[in-house]
Amino acid sequence: MQPAMQRRAFLRNLGTGAVLGAAIPSPAAEPTAQRQSASTTAPEKDSPPREVQLERLRPREIDQAMLACPVLFQPLGTIEWHGLHNIVGLDAVKAHHLCVRAARQGGGLVAPPLYGGVGGLDEPHTFVMEPENDVHSVLVHGWVEKLCREAARQGFKAVIVLTGHYGAAQQIVVRQAAVRASRSLGIPVLGTPEYFLALDVGYHGDHAAWGETALMLELDPESVDLSRLGQPPHKGVGGRDPREATRADGQRLAGTIVSRLGKLARRMPAWDAATRQRFIDAEAALVNRQLELAASEKAVWTAWRHIGKGVISDYGRLIVEEEFEQIAALTRKL
Ligand SMILES: [Zn+2]
Repeated sequence: MQPAMQRRAFLRNLGTGAVLGAAIPSPAAEPTAQRQSASTTAPEKDSPPREVQLERLRPREIDQAMLACPVLFQPLGTIEWHGLHNIVGLDAVKAHHLCVRAARQGGGLVAPPLYGGVGGLDEPHTFVMEPENDVHSVLVHGWVEKLCREAARQGFKAVIVLTGHYGAAQQIVVRQAAVRASRSLGIPVLGTPEYFLALDVGYHGDHAAWGETALMLELDPESVDLSRLGQPPHKGVGGRDPREATRADGQRLAGTIVSRLGKLARRMPAWDAATRQRFIDAEAALVNRQLELAASEKAVWTAWRHIGKGVISDYGRLIVEEEFEQIAALTRKL
């Protein structure tokens, strides 16, 4: 099948589905800030939220943030057609907002988003850096792994790589790179699409449809213009009709994703070697199963065939609760 056809086949297997967001300046450098955890440094009413974007910080602010929570978030996306109603940078913009909200809630810093991924729709204004089904990615795999190596060298004790772009190969490559980095660097690295953390609240991943549009209505409302959409069929849109998306849906989805990311940010740096190994085993089981099914069925989306039926919907809850063996067990149902 052509990539676009495969994407459509994937989307037919999915249900439909919804998260949080915000941005800027840093608090004055109070001596007590160093002793407070990020979760207790909530801004005073009317004061600006804590700046968590790495590129916007000075050395002392970075040191303070890392002392409180040494976690680096890395949002991933690309430039890809997302319907007439959404911006082409949606995937990275969405992931970046989610990471910023999560870092404000749970602690940590957010690296600038990467625009460039594996695959993309065969539609205008889409940059396809590597072929759609290329599980042997060179660019994304190498970039993620080297980013993690640098994060570890800088002193971060955990990395969360959140991809807002989700062709099957992109998801596989990101998770595989994270597993490999976790093994080689001795710090936990989670590499996942954001919707994996919201499967149990009804979002199974889509393309520019109800889920992504709802998320953007919450995270970046000025980027969405539903009046441009027109009547269905909506070109290059896969999933439930985006005209049904509401900001309330987006709040619910973003809320779940951000809350779980925040909890992971608080806990991952403290995982001991045994916990880290259990985490790696679960993530490896998941990505190995995805690869195994892709190879046996000669279709990279095979491991997603039952996602819409909820076979792995507990993933988000289980990873936060560190029930890693249960995640490994679920992967056998894919
Ligand atoms: Zn997207």
